[in-house]
Amino acid sequence: MKVTEHIAQAKDTLISFEILPPLKGKSIESIYDHLDPLMEFKPSFINVTYHRSEHMFKKRGDGTFEKVEIRKRPGTVGICAAIMNHYNVDAVPHLICGGFSREETENALIDLNFLGVDNVLVLRGDAPRNETFFEPNPDGHRYAIELLQQVVHMNNGIYLEEDLQGGVKTKFCIGVAGYPEKHFEAPNLQTDLTHLKKKVENGADYIITQMFFDNRKFFDFVAKCREMGITVPIIPGLKPLTTKRQLTVLPRTFHVDIPDDLATEVLKCKTDKEVEEAGTQWLIQQSKELKAFGVPVLHYYTLGKPKVIKKVVEAIV
Ligand code: FAD
Repeated sequence: MKVTEHIAQAKDTLISFEILPPLKGKSIESIYDHLDPLMEFKPSFINVTYHRSEHMFKKRGDGTFEKVEIRKRPGTVGICAAIMNHYNVDAVPHLICGGFSREETENALIDLNFLGVDNVLVLRGDAPRNETFFEPNPDGHRYAIELLQQVVHMNNGIYLEEDLQGGVKTKFCIGVAGYPEKHFEAPNLQTDLTHLKKKVENGADYIITQMFFDNRKFFDFVAKCREMGITVPIIPGLKPLTTKRQLTVLPRTFHVDIPDDLATEVLKCKTDKEVEEAGTQWLIQQSKELKAFGVPVLHYYTLGKPKVIKKVVEAIV
């Protein structure tokens, strides 16, 4: 079932989770171990992130280095199929532009369609870890909107091969990313919102946001989107702060602010156990306020912290 259908049928705020594929070499059981404690909350859907390959330098026996390409977390499509099969819950694979040609994207979408996956979250992806700027693949997409347009074409039965007539019309419900605190490369929030609006005008069915720790930023973002005529559901992405180190890592990695009240609280903590408790309480308050605001879904980035997320969801359902 589509994310938008879940939202349309909902009587209350829905819950959804986001997971990462395990590191290469681990089994699907590690995903089930992660999700099992959360399934009692009957998530409407579970997102599975996509991780592109990275270039690394491997030392040879003679002391020289060899450049190799490694994907540390493969398996997004397989995990989605496994989740749907194991839990009978909808899975939302993330699809990115980076590292994909249009042809490879088309083939991935065909696989997803054959597996009965109804949803995709389309994203640009970032530059690989050791590169500064995002560069599309030769014959790949530069922006998420181009990937979105490819999915919309397939939903209309239009494939890359021009001669292909009467192709199956896929029915993907398409999500896109939004940034309450602006995407880090955008010159300003208004420009970023203009690009977001274009994604919606081109067929995005809903928006999921980057994590944020200050609800006012989300409320302002929603208000600005609505003023601009963006009417699709906007789903807040939520993450608990669980270590002192994250006070600097999260702003640096995700370009989000940590509010002063939360930062002060965390700095008072003597151990990461105390930080986890402070972060959990903060996320509970955030979630309660967002629920009262009427968000359609509370979407939790579980990122190795299912017990924290369990505590948060228990407190709000
Ligand atoms: P875009 O919408 O393409 O925007 C990228 C930048 O370009 C923005 O600054 C935008 O303002 C600008 N822009 C957009 N269109 C145009 C245009 N036509 N002309 C000029 N400028 C333009 N990354 C992963 O690798 N894997 C994941 O699974 C993943 N999941 C994510 C889930 C969520 C909910 C979020 C919020 C992010 C996720 N990311 C993931 C990170 C994401 O890929 C990065 O934030 C990336 O830098 C931007 O992706 P986007 O889809 O927002 O890009």
